[in-house]
Amino acid sequence: MSDAAFSRVAFIGIGLIGSSLARVLRRDKLAREIVACARRQETLDTARALGLADAFTTDPAAAARGADLVVIASPLSTYAEIGRRIAAELRPGTILTDVGSVKAAVIRDLAPHLPEGAHLVPGHPVAGTEHSGPAAGFAELFRDRWCILTPPPGTDPLAVGRITRMWQSAEMRVVTMDAEHHDKVLAITSHLPHLIAYTIVGTATDLEETLKSEVIKFSAGGFRDFTRIAASDPVMWRDVFLNNREAVLEMLQRFTEDLTALQRAIRWGEGDKLEDLFTRTRAIRRSIIEAKQA
Ligand code: NAP
Repeated sequence: MSDAAFSRVAFIGIGLIGSSLARVLRRDKLAREIVACARRQETLDTARALGLADAFTTDPAAAARGADLVVIASPLSTYAEIGRRIAAELRPGTILTDVGSVKAAVIRDLAPHLPEGAHLVPGHPVAGTEHSGPAAGFAELFRDRWCILTPPPGTDPLAVGRITRMWQSAEMRVVTMDAEHHDKVLAITSHLPHLIAYTIVGTATDLEETLKSEVIKFSAGGFRDFTRIAASDPVMWRDVFLNNREAVLEMLQRFTEDLTALQRAIRWGEGDKLEDLFTRTRAIRRSIIEAKQA
């Protein structure tokens, strides 16, 4: 085993993201033993059938017992309670990490439970699909995507290095930043787009019956692309908005101002303004393709 390897890794949450990372640890032999924890026995049965772990439990404390790496991969609303339940099991030297889509709230919820000598290295693999559960995971999910680590100031660099190497094994590019900065960047690149998709699909759902059936029929005109995003897990996204309130509200404010400006341009027939914006946005798409993030 390489120096990135761990002896006992506990996954609290073994859904899309947790199970994908467990598959990477298995594939690359980065864990001598893996313990999976979920709320429901049914989820654990699926994880067992898929060979994702060696031991299975519904008790987070039992999962964390004796682990040198604990990965929280459950909805953000569960973190504070999980932190409280595993606190007594974390030993000096244990690394506690996570995969949550918001980062300042994670530090708020987990840091108070961290015993002396244990390390908190919060992380966010910016990769996913609209599917959930252990069967939806796959090791290649993370390939060529970015993973953002947000260790609080003063975190042991060796612990950050081990988590960095773990995500590099998953073929991710790893970057470290401040948690508040992460939350602002993700508010515009991920959280706002999801909110817009949920809104558009919600608006279409509320249309009268005749129009609604035509929306489905002619969805290839653009609507379809929003429905994929709006099919994302409701609990996960509820938690994202509740835990990144400030940054999302700030971006939403800017967005509604820009939307009002566009509304005005359409009303006054200002084609040059529309064309100018659409030309600039097309360039953004090109740079995403060039950065191989398309
Ligand atoms: P998921 O597929 O729904 O899996 C969630 C897992 O957490 C399930 O195994 C679930 O078990 C378990 N769980 C729920 N409540 C729990 C509790 N109280 N104690 C222990 N386990 C519990 O979700 P996911 O998509 O992997 O998302 C997990 C985390 O990754 C979230 O924090 C999310 O913000 C983050 N994330 C998601 C994406 C994405 O695109 N999906 C991308 C990046 C980061 P049961 O099945 O038994 O409920």
